[in-house]
Amino acid sequence: MNSSLKTDVLIIGSGIAGLFTALKIAPYANVVLVTKKDKNESNTNYAQGGIASVISKTDSFEKHINDTLIAGAGLCNEDIVRIMVQEGPHRIQDLIDIGTSFTNKQGSLDLALEGGHSEPRIVHAKDLTGKEIESALITEVSTIKNIQVIENTIAIDLITEHNIENLKSANLKNRNCWGAYVLDVNNGDVIKICAKATVLATGGLGQVYQHTTNPRIATGDGIAMAYRAGAKIANMEFIQFHPTSLFRRSTNHTGEQSFLISEAVRGFGAKLRTSKGVEFMIEYDNRKELAPRDIVARAIDSELKKSGEEFIYLDITHKEPDDIKNHFPNIFNHCLNLGIDITKEPIPIVPAAHYSCGGVMVDEHARTSLLGLYACGEVAMTGVHGANRLASNSLLEAVVFADRTAKNLIHFVNQKITFPEIPEWDDSGTLTADEKVLITHNFKEVKTTMWDYVSIVRSNQRLERAAKRIHTIFEEVEDFYKRTKVFSDLLELRNLTACAHIIIKSALLRKESRGLHYTLDYPELSLKPENTIMQNVHP
Ligand SMILES: Cc1cc2nc3c(=O)[nH]c(=O)nc-3n(C[C@H](O)[C@H](O)[C@H](O)COP(=O)(O)OP(=O)(O)OC[C@H]3O[C@@H](n4cnc5c(N)ncnc54)[C@H](O)[C@@H]3O)c2cc1C
Repeated sequence: MNSSLKTDVLIIGSGIAGLFTALKIAPYANVVLVTKKDKNESNTNYAQGGIASVISKTDSFEKHINDTLIAGAGLCNEDIVRIMVQEGPHRIQDLIDIGTSFTNKQGSLDLALEGGHSEPRIVHAKDLTGKEIESALITEVSTIKNIQVIENTIAIDLITEHNIENLKSANLKNRNCWGAYVLDVNNGDVIKICAKATVLATGGLGQVYQHTTNPRIATGDGIAMAYRAGAKIANMEFIQFHPTSLFRRSTNHTGEQSFLISEAVRGFGAKLRTSKGVEFMIEYDNRKELAPRDIVARAIDSELKKSGEEFIYLDITHKEPDDIKNHFPNIFNHCLNLGIDITKEPIPIVPAAHYSCGGVMVDEHARTSLLGLYACGEVAMTGVHGANRLASNSLLEAVVFADRTAKNLIHFVNQKITFPEIPEWDDSGTLTADEKVLITHNFKEVKTTMWDYVSIVRSNQRLERAAKRIHTIFEEVEDFYKRTKVFSDLLELRNLTACAHIIIKSALLRKESRGLHYTLDYPELSLKPENTIMQNVHP
């Protein structure tokens, strides 16, 4: 039975961005937070390395800003970077105040060094930073009465003029968002949640690719929903591939997550070697293993293409075994369980899709181009990352802009907001899916198409081939969606396909190689750096 709910603020997602926004706005407004699986299942929960912030006396805001701008390859918004860096230490303190236990050394925060950072500034909780932050946030949220967390509930679509019959023709410039339709996965009911303001905190889209470090939830739902509703989406061609995920022979088609060997392992001195034991990074960059991720990923891609092999090695065996175990207990144990003792043998690794620098375009207050719709965390494009993300800046961006979302919401939800008549979810004429093979087949096909044609090195020919294939899948999925009662795999496939389409389109629009977007057809930088902005003009 379909039902409805009303609230001040609807938050979609329970990673760092969603939970932190909820905590900060809760003293001023009622919050409903929906999340599609268990509340701790998020990218946040898997973050290992840490969260970058200027803490050390030898460090400075200017150094962190500069490192971020260098990584971003000319496309960062410097004002926004400045906001993130300057507000960072306050937000780290907020996380500590709610009970996050970061690793300390001699009474102060232990600061690690990571690739692209000119100073040690990575605040961490051993190599399980995300888990520690997520669990502290969840514990705190559970004590607050006016935050209602609803698990196993997947947002289907935003409620805007586009799904209200008599408002459909409203001008795209003055669109509103009044909540979302969500599916209760346990019983198949669709709930209409009307909200004065809606916050997308749905995280990334790594599952678009065959190899990814992202968990199964990362299917780009927020980006796809915002696109369908007519919000502006930007810079989706910039997908960061983590150079070092643990190689497993089983091919990853079904949503299995590749295990990440954190950047911090290279920061700690690990060397990349070919199968013959030869170090090669010096041929690509003077910073060797500490070069930014895109350079390391392309170097590995190039070595793999030369040798025809499926993986290369990351070697930390020259370090003291106790130091390795102490710094990386999670990585050590995970590998040991698979029969690899990283203190004695090198780790087989392959690059994997890791982070989306683009997303739903927002301003410095996390407002999207739709009134009442906010976005923060990985789903958003704030301007911080430009064409490439500096390691450990994403948790920082998420927490800083979640705070800014909440600050702006205080004023927004205090206004009088008039809701139009919003229809109940209408699934009359649809049938329960009797065959799910279309879902599993197309899920695999989107992922392999994107991996083969739209990953680390691109070309016009590869992108056009991918565009054709994804268009066919898109039509098949839309047809299936119109005829079928919604269920989560279908919703995720629909969103994955929409994101694949947006990534390819954005990549085709960029006629240069910049940051994470490298194409054989335009190997040079263009003179004027510009964002790639896409908008569905017929939502
Ligand atoms: C293995 C790994 C290691 C990383 N290490 C680091 C690191 O060391 N430092 C760093 O800064 N960053 C790191 N990152 C990146 C960082 O973890 C993410 O960018 C960040 O956690 C994103 O937070 P978020 O709140 O935006 O999204 P997430 O934490 O991914 O949360 C998204 C939430 O939205 C929910 N959701 C999604 N779609 C829907 C829907 N349709 N309906 C309802 N709910 C929905 C999900 O279930 C989830 O709860 C890492 C990422 C991975 C995968």
